[in-house]
Amino acid sequence: MSSDSSIPTPSSTNTATGASRPRAESLRQAARIFRYLRPYRVRFASAWVALLIASSLGLAFPYLTGSLLDASTGRSVPLPFGGITLSLNQIALLLVGTLGVQAFFSFFSSYGFNRCGESALADLRRETFGRILGLPMSFFAHRRVGELSSRLSADLTVIQETFTFTIPQFLRQAVLLTGGIGLIVATSWRLGGVMISTFPVLLLAAILMGRRIRGLSRSAQDHLGEGGTVVEESLHGIVNVKAFGNERFELSRYASHLSDYLGVVLRTARLRASLVSFIIFGVFGSIVLVFWYGARLMQAGQLSFGELTRFILYTTFVGGSVASFAEVFSQVQKTLGATERVRELLDETPEVPVLQPAPPGPVPRFRGDVEFADVVFRYPARPDVAALRGITLHARAGERIALVGPSGAGKSTLVSLLLRLYEPTSGNLRLDGRPADTIPLHEVRGNMAIVPQEVLLFGGTVEENIRYGKPDATREEVIAAARLAACHEFIERFPEGYQTRVGDRGVKLSGGQRQRIAIARALLKNPSILILDEATSSLDSESEHLIQQALSVLLAGRTAFVIAHRLSTIRQVDRIYVIEDGAVTESGTHDELLARDGGTYRRLAALQFDAAAV
Ligand code: ATP
Repeated sequence: MSSDSSIPTPSSTNTATGASRPRAESLRQAARIFRYLRPYRVRFASAWVALLIASSLGLAFPYLTGSLLDASTGRSVPLPFGGITLSLNQIALLLVGTLGVQAFFSFFSSYGFNRCGESALADLRRETFGRILGLPMSFFAHRRVGELSSRLSADLTVIQETFTFTIPQFLRQAVLLTGGIGLIVATSWRLGGVMISTFPVLLLAAILMGRRIRGLSRSAQDHLGEGGTVVEESLHGIVNVKAFGNERFELSRYASHLSDYLGVVLRTARLRASLVSFIIFGVFGSIVLVFWYGARLMQAGQLSFGELTRFILYTTFVGGSVASFAEVFSQVQKTLGATERVRELLDETPEVPVLQPAPPGPVPRFRGDVEFADVVFRYPARPDVAALRGITLHARAGERIALVGPSGAGKSTLVSLLLRLYEPTSGNLRLDGRPADTIPLHEVRGNMAIVPQEVLLFGGTVEENIRYGKPDATREEVIAAARLAACHEFIERFPEGYQTRVGDRGVKLSGGQRQRIAIARALLKNPSILILDEATSSLDSESEHLIQQALSVLLAGRTAFVIAHRLSTIRQVDRIYVIEDGAVTESGTHDELLARDGGTYRRLAALQFDAAAV
């Protein structure tokens, strides 16, 4: 696991990148992203060849136009191939033919580049998402997930532009530039010299301003990312936003990020605008220069009208490519910044190799014996505080264990360690007598299921949501699980039955219905160890009765850990552990603990049962 710095925070980004990192190194690193083009190299190379042909034919255009004009004045200029002299009409036909062939190859090169670029990007997106999914929990603890996802999508869009637009643009302009200069110098080195002398100034301006644009673009991406986070967080928590009447507050948070963003993009836009106008001035300036010098050569009879036209067209071509190099350059700068975060993410070490095929065969079944031996745990985000301070507890296969204790005592933390979302700082967790960290993660989690307090349903049908417990389950298995979990009746009452869509976060279902779906999911998974985070919300007594029934089916024959909020529900468990401030302070059955004078359980029970009696 890497440290905090793997995804730079807005304040660190500008210093972590840019000038401080050696250019060659950052280019080499960025080139890794281009490896994604490798599987498409044949197509990419064909697109390259098509582009080379199209661009070279583009260079024939000024030449033929010049010849056309010369032919109109009666002066015939032989074409370069074989010294053939053509009539005006023949040249015009050749020109149209050349343009047609150029259009044909342009189509193939443009389509080819887009196809390679988009396919490579789809691979990159898939790999990035797979990588994120496989990362350990400690990674997510350091980051705001909304920010991560919105920044990534912004960065991937920049990379997409590079793959589909910048690379072909760069290649096209490189051909026009070198070909154009070559042709100009070959025909009149004097005129060529005049034109080329204007380039260094243009290039220097492009490079200097391009660098500045890079810094600003990165900062714009950051501000946009922060704004995106606000949108994502508010929409996810829309119920809270509305309940607290905080719509305006969220809007103002968003607006403040947006105005920062606007400030930066406007600065970038000013810079770009100056660059563009400077380059336009430079390009037209050099055309005037060539014009002037060419006109003088024409006056002296050293140059024909057609040749001058040819030069001017080549100069606009070459000037145009120099100008677009500035654009390409600033896009490359942008890409260097954008690839950084993606690369860092790809370099993180995953806990689950999501990108590799799943291990073959069914997961070996555990008996369900769980033992925590003197487990101490500190969250990576808060290493100074021990969330668990020497927990020792043993659940034999098939036992029902309840975890009780005040809020913040460490119950959920204990369960996270059982699921191996985190590893103990010290002490041991043993599953079926084997150290848990020697067992492959997919086996550990494949043997467990959790019914959480707050059930998250995925956007999809009810059936898909139940099947989440076992993606390859048959329809019959899904229905059988739904029946046992007391879901079948209410699902059947929906007009679309199992195919009812449950919306973004399952908003159409009540809390009790969602819980029963979660129970059906767990039943379908058929785990040997079950974790139940009991609902605190008071359900109506019928739902409660249904859920208790469904739970008793679910608990049968498995080891179960119940995080109990209502002590009335755990009278029947085999053993209760009272957890306070990260340590086990009492353990025993309901009756044993009630009998203990001055015990925490007895006090909690008295509070709850008294309250119930009122
Ligand atoms: P509740 O009954 O309210 O859910 P709990 O007993 O399950 O509480 P935990 O959620 O396990 O308590 O929290 C134990 C301690 O660990 C708390 O002090 C909490 O602030 C801290 N904690 C929980 N999650 C994290 C985290 N991801 N990073 C840092 N500290 C955490």
